[in-house]
This record gives sequence, structure tokens and C-alpha cells, in this order.
Amino acid sequence: MPRIQQLSPSVVNKIAAGEVIERPASVVKELVENAIDAGARRIDVAVDRGGVEVIRVTDDGCGIAADELALALTSHATSKIREADDLFHVRTLGFRGEALASIAEVSRLLLRSRTADDPAGAEIEVVAGQRTGPTPCGCPQGTTIEVSSLFCNTPVRRKFLRSTQTEFGHLTEAFLRQVLAYPEIHFTLRHHDRTVYDLPATDQWTDRIAAVLGPELVAGLIPVESVDEQVRLWGYVAHPSHSRSHAKMQYLFLNGRHIRDRSLQHALGEAYRGLLLTGRYPISILQMTMPPEMVDVNVHPTKLEVRFLDSGRIYSQLLSTLRTRFLSADLSTQLRPPETEQPGDAAHDPAQAERFREQVIQWAQGGSAAASRMVQVEPRRPLTLNRIDDAAAWRQSSTPAARSGQGASPAQGEHAPTIVPAAVGFAELEATVAGDLPTSLDPAHDVAVPAMQVHNRYLVVEEDQGIVVIDQHALHERILYEQFRARLDSGTLESQMLLVPEPVDLGPSQAARLLEHRDELARLGVKVEPFGGGTVLVTGHPAMLAASPVAEVLRSLVTQLESGAHRPQMGDLVDELLHMMACKAAVKAGDRLSAEEIQALLAQRHLVHDTHHCPHGRPTALVLSREELDKQFKRT
Ligand code: ADP
Ligand code: MG
Repeated sequence: MPRIQQLSPSVVNKIAAGEVIERPASVVKELVENAIDAGARRIDVAVDRGGVEVIRVTDDGCGIAADELALALTSHATSKIREADDLFHVRTLGFRGEALASIAEVSRLLLRSRTADDPAGAEIEVVAGQRTGPTPCGCPQGTTIEVSSLFCNTPVRRKFLRSTQTEFGHLTEAFLRQVLAYPEIHFTLRHHDRTVYDLPATDQWTDRIAAVLGPELVAGLIPVESVDEQVRLWGYVAHPSHSRSHAKMQYLFLNGRHIRDRSLQHALGEAYRGLLLTGRYPISILQMTMPPEMVDVNVHPTKLEVRFLDSGRIYSQLLSTLRTRFLSADLSTQLRPPETEQPGDAAHDPAQAERFREQVIQWAQGGSAAASRMVQVEPRRPLTLNRIDDAAAWRQSSTPAARSGQGASPAQGEHAPTIVPAAVGFAELEATVAGDLPTSLDPAHDVAVPAMQVHNRYLVVEEDQGIVVIDQHALHERILYEQFRARLDSGTLESQMLLVPEPVDLGPSQAARLLEHRDELARLGVKVEPFGGGTVLVTGHPAMLAASPVAEVLRSLVTQLESGAHRPQMGDLVDELLHMMACKAAVKAGDRLSAEEIQALLAQRHLVHDTHHCPHGRPTALVLSREELDKQFKRT
């Protein structure tokens, strides 16, 4: 057995650094927290190579006295707590006194500072744990800490660092989280001497939110607030139409500290229940203040998680605040997409959606021999055109009195009718449809199938085996997906250069992710350039998706990139694009179909490989067999 030994302070610090300092972003988080704790009104962050080479944070806070500089860099040295009891009254972001020591242990660190009382400043330098100074120097009041060659003496750690872009993406995200919580502080961020953010102090929180998350999002924000004796909750949640496919846009600050809390995320999800599709997450920027005694912040190495004394109470306060807000808001207007919807969001713009569908179908029809088998059976009038307008017009004209009487929202309106005027009876169907089908249909199916549409979303079909209930959207999506695949197998994804390159705001880490895969994306026809911050510049777009909003295409690709392995498979990315096209071009649940369209859809059902599942894997049809019916009615 090896002998037990006390570890040297250097090893202890390296171990601590392992927990707290994972990458340049962690250094920025710690240094900015210190500056905020020091009461700074302005904090400047400048970095090189994504923070891997240099991170310099300058503040105009209280500064550190020359005779305390060395102490500040020692582990477990802090000005923020004195006694163990103080741990339960922490009012600062830091309190463990190990950040500077940890950083100094794994980098070169230069600390320069001057307090208001001192005529001159002093500086101290630590290179891989070896200290020189402090020596006097001239400097303004406040503190500058420069960290260079991060992980220079821990090669394994250094190997884990990713590309400059990725590290800078993480770093920017860490920076922006602080920036969001402290609008009263002026923040700047520079990368290689280029100013990426310059955010002057403001007393309007929404100004800061707009500067960080984009003005179009702010327009759709719903303010929320609730105050009880001890806990104050306030902030903004986004309109449901601004949902995301991930929970990263849920910002929660507790006493000025960014935290993550599963239980509160759950409460947020609950509040939006019924307003969002599954797999979609709301956006929220919430602040919470409570007496420090009500929360233990000393449970997580980077203090990202905390433990509430009474988590149930906080949970229900969040949930009820949001629910009450949603109820008291005029739901019918709240649920309507805001005027400032992201430009060209096809989901909410019927004309745009129609243009999109038209183009997609044209694209598919312009295909090669491989695709023509599919394309031939496309009904003369493309199945999907006019659908939204018809349905919308119908919805408006039908029973407005009845619906306004119930105060129903547009969303409820879609569910209101059970069988709509277009839900054709069997006899009527056969009469109107028989001679009206595309001539190229396979003769075997050239007979109208008895079918009806119910709830504007399901087709009920009589077949030899029994009754089949088909999800109209899922089936159409599958058919289109197969058509697009066939078209693709025979050709390539042409790119269409944009006349005016379009900037798309994705957020720093997502932008970095996307740029990392520039070459793969170019092969899909998606041409992107870095633009700074969380923005990328799109110069080329897949021709087949010409009519769909560039931003939406990028977001779905990023989500795919993030969910996948380190090296994305081209096939998966192509598939993502095809799914997207198919889903957008397909008739929607809620679209009223004409008898002709129902027949065209059913006719094509036999031409695809797997009609039982939509490309997302959801079933497209349910079968109620004759035997089952007989059994249920006790006929056997
Ligand atoms: P903690 O923040 O947990 O106290 P740190 O290692 O981050 O520990 O910092 C150690 C101490 O150095 C702090 O308690 C504070 O007194 C001092 N300090 C660090 N950064 C600054 C700064 N930017 N301005 C003033 N004082 C600072
Ligand atoms: Mg600290």
C-alpha cells in the first residue's frame, strides 16, 4: 500500500481548478463575478484566440490594496465571508476564495489594482504558481486581471479545448449571462481587438435584453411579476410563438446569480402546457430575489445549482405567477402571433407558406426520371395550394357569434367544428370525385375510395381489412418526404446565392457550432460566414428551400448538429432538411381538404415505402380491423 501523504498546495489548487476552471468561459465567469462583487460600473473583457491565449478583464470597482494582492491569489482567501455562519447570508457572487488561486495555478496571471485611497497601484504576476511582486505601478482605480496561456502546465486539459470559435462561443455565452442580469453596468467584449459587444448601462432591462437576445424577441415578451413578503419574482417570458427546440434560452437569476434549476424549469414547462407542442421550450428571462437565508448557494462547484430551503414554495410561486399572467392576458390576442414575428416565418404567414409550398412542389416536379414516378401522381392542382386561405376564410365565416360568445381563441377555433362542410359523405364523394382524378393514377387505385375527413385532421377510410384512420398531415408529410428523397437521390443540393447576404442571430455557441461545420453545410448548399458575436452571415441557401426563411433552416440544422455526434453525418443533415421541407409543405392538421384532395392524398398512399409512419416516426394511420369491430359488437 502506498503511504498516505498530504498533497502540496499546488496540487490542491490544480484539483480545485479542475472543478471550477473548465475552459476560457469559466475564467471569464469568475473574473466578471469578482468585478461585479467589487461594485464596478464598467467591466471590459478583451480576449485573444477565443480566450485560450489571453483573457483580460478590467473593472472600475473598489480595487485591492497593494498589501493584499498576494493574499487575493492564495486559495481560501476571501473578503466576502468570515465565519461558517456567513455561508447562509451570502450576498456576493463569490465567497469561496479559490477562483483566483485556481486560475493562477493553471495559467500566467497578472493582477494590477488600485483602491480609491491609494495614490498608486501595484501589480503582481504568477507564472504557473510562481509569484513575482507586488511592484508599484500607475493605474486607474479598479482592477485588471490578465490571464494568458490557459492550461499551459496541464497539457491534458489544454487538449480538451476546442476550436477558437467554439471556445469564443462558450465564452460569449458566459459573458452574456452576466450582462443580462446587470443592465446597470456598462460591459464590453473584444476579440482580437475587434469590439463584439459594447453595452452601455441602462435602467431599462428590456433594452439590455434586446441588445443581447435581439429586438424581435423583445417585442413578443410578456412581463411577469409577483411579490410576497420574502420572494420577488419578475422578468419576461416569451410569447409561445417564440419557442425553441432547446431549453437554453431559459435564463434564471437568483439574487443576481445565474442558476439552473430543474424543478423551476419544470414549473415553466407546466405553465406553458397546452401552449407549446411537445419538444418545444419556452423562452424566459426571470429574476428572483429572496433573503440569502432561504437558499444554500454552497452546493455546486461553479454555484450553477443552488438548494432552496422551501423549493415547493418557489415552484408554485413561479407556476402560479405565469399561469395567472397567461389567464389575465387577453389570450385571444396573446395567442395570435405578434406583429413583429420574425420576418417571413412561414408558419404564421399564409401567403408565405403558400409560396413555400408552391416552390417545394415545383422543385420536386422539376426532378429527374427517378422522381417522375412520384411526381406524376401529383394532383393537377397541387394538393396543398390554397389550403390555408380556404381554411382561414372558412373559419372566419363560420359561426363567429357562437365562437365569440365563448371567448374562444383562434387556436380553439380550429378544434371547434367536428365535421366541417367539406367533410364529404360517401355518396357525395363518389359522385363528385370519380371522374375527377389525375389521369396518370395507377389503375388499381383509379377508383374513389370511400373516405371522409373528420375534425379537419383525420381521414377515415373504409378498406377491406376494416376502418383506417389516417392523420392527414403525417401521411402527406411522408409522401412528400419520399418524393424529395427520390429527387435528391438523382441530383444534388444546388445552392442559390443570396443577392444580399442575410445575417442570422443564433447565439454565440450555436453560431460557433454552425461555423465549425461550414464545409459540410456548404455541400448541402448552405453557405455561411462568421459575422461576429452570435451572428452568422448566410451567403447561399439550398435552392430547394429557397422560399423558407433562412433563419429557420439554420436553427433546425444547428439543433441537429448539437444533438448529434462530434462529426455530423451528411445523411442526417440532409434528412433534417428533407423533413423540414416535407413538414412545411404538407397539409396541416386543421386544413380542410376538398373531396378531390382527399382522394389524391389517398391515391398516393400506395406509392411510398412506409406510409405507416411520418418521417418523424409518428404513426400516420390506425387500423380498426373488421374482426375487432365484430368482436366489439359481439358478432362473433
Ligand atoms: P471570492 O470571489 O470567492 O472571494 P476569488 O478568488 O475570486 O474569491 O477572489 C479573492 C478575493 O480577491 C476576493 O474576495 C476579493 O476580495 C478580491 N478580488 C478579486 N477580484 C477582485 C476585483 N476585480 N476587484 C476587487 N477585489 C477583487
Ligand atoms: Mg470570485
